[in-house]
Amino acid sequence: MTTPKTCLNYINGQWLPAKSGATLESRNPADWRQLVATFPRSEAVDVDAAVEAARNAYRQWRLVPAPARAGYIYRVAELLIQHKEELAQLMSREMGKAIAEARGDVQEGIDCALYYAGEGRRLFGQTTPSEMPNKFAMTVRMPIGVCALITPWNFPVAIPCWKALPALVCGNTIILKPAGDTPACASFLIQIFHDAGFPEGVVNLVHGFGSEVGKALTEHPDIDLVSFTGSSQTGAEIGSTCGRTHKRVCLELGGKNAQIVMDDADLELALEGAVWGAFGTTGQRCTATSRLLLHRDIKDKFTSMLVERTAKLRLGAGIDPNTNVGPLVNVAQLQRVSGYLEVAHFEKAKVLIGGKIANIGDLKYGFFFEPTILDNVTPDMRVAREEIFGPVVSLIEVNSFEEAIKILNDTPYGLSSSIYTGDVNRAFQAMRDIEAGITYINGPTIGAEVHLPFGGVKQTGNGHREAGTAALDVFSEWKSVYVDFSGRLQRAQIDNH
Ligand code: NAD
Repeated sequence: MTTPKTCLNYINGQWLPAKSGATLESRNPADWRQLVATFPRSEAVDVDAAVEAARNAYRQWRLVPAPARAGYIYRVAELLIQHKEELAQLMSREMGKAIAEARGDVQEGIDCALYYAGEGRRLFGQTTPSEMPNKFAMTVRMPIGVCALITPWNFPVAIPCWKALPALVCGNTIILKPAGDTPACASFLIQIFHDAGFPEGVVNLVHGFGSEVGKALTEHPDIDLVSFTGSSQTGAEIGSTCGRTHKRVCLELGGKNAQIVMDDADLELALEGAVWGAFGTTGQRCTATSRLLLHRDIKDKFTSMLVERTAKLRLGAGIDPNTNVGPLVNVAQLQRVSGYLEVAHFEKAKVLIGGKIANIGDLKYGFFFEPTILDNVTPDMRVAREEIFGPVVSLIEVNSFEEAIKILNDTPYGLSSSIYTGDVNRAFQAMRDIEAGITYINGPTIGAEVHLPFGGVKQTGNGHREAGTAALDVFSEWKSVYVDFSGRLQRAQIDNH
């Protein structure tokens, strides 16, 4: 067993305990007897210190040329590459993800760092003709100030990187508030930022509860922007606080993603996609496939293929390379998923496989739930409408392409979506008619790449996108600059008409 880590806050370049000295614990969800780390239970007073440090650092950091800011980010990429395996193993122990997926999570951080390091030499604005003679017009990106980054546990490296790196290249300073289930991953990541040599106060980390640290950050008058990824419920609360306190806010929330399998689909391919989309990361992805919309002509055949394949998935600790499906992250998640199985029974869905807590042998020390397929699900059922965030997929029969699109869209969310079809016309219609931020054709609902925008429509967010150049629009303001070199007053819309 590995020695537990003692995680600390990182404020103004110093590793510090909470001012109160209080601590919390992070335990291995595959075996709760193993303590992974202790970390500070911070409060508003710790947040105040971090905000002050970030505010002071901002004065200088915004003036550092963007290519030089990007140099630190490039160093983050190098260090993440160097520590990829160590960090992936820590992640797998701390939040349960299968080791291959944990490596993928770190790789996403690396890709992101390489991408935004390159962005330091772009950050393009526009030049455009003025309507007046001897006048020059252009737009430039301005940093926003001090950014609070509040993140969930399911992608403990990738999501903080998606936020921190575009924020930093744009010239902002940051305070990361990671989820209480992944403090050790967050501390490891911030140690990498420290080693990359960022000036004191540019990068800060405050651990603790959302209701204490997260809330204090959101309400703090000296925070300019909150970037949040997490549940829709918390997002609504943060959105309203930020509205009240006039902060810029970017919300990336839940999903209820569907994969359509048409009668002309390659069923083997669709099966691979469905299994990966539904049970990858134990279903704990915002883009997880939680509904399979199956054309009636292939439903029986596809269902039996899916059940057979699901039966072969191996549950176990993520760190074991033979594991396909790791544990849920904590006991609350286990109770939540179990609760949805009660709902499924009440709603008369049929459990084809799984449906129970798995607690045989060594699994009894972890938060394991059997990969579960629910049949006879109709679009109005709660299991078809609410985010379960676990290894549970609902099968819904559809009679036509049009009905599949209608049901896919009939949810309050709109994050990811997928259709398997051999018909190019249907593929293009689906691209046009699906209401979601992301659509995959002949691919599963999961698998975003860092240079494309990531986010959703409807209650999945508030119109922003992460990743790619879209993230620059979150972390910078446009300024329009006019340079009049005529040497006289020129009145727009008046003197030239
Ligand atoms: P959560 O909302 O419980 O917590 C997310 C973060 O918010 C944590 O750091 C938490 O401590 C903090 N927090 C909690 N209450 C707060 C408050 N009142 N004020 C400020 N901060 C607060 O979510 P979770 O359980 O960690 O993550 C799972 C959810 O995240 C799922 O709904 C999933 O769909 C969503 N998610 C969305 C995306 C996306 O990009 N759309 C990506 C990953 C996860």
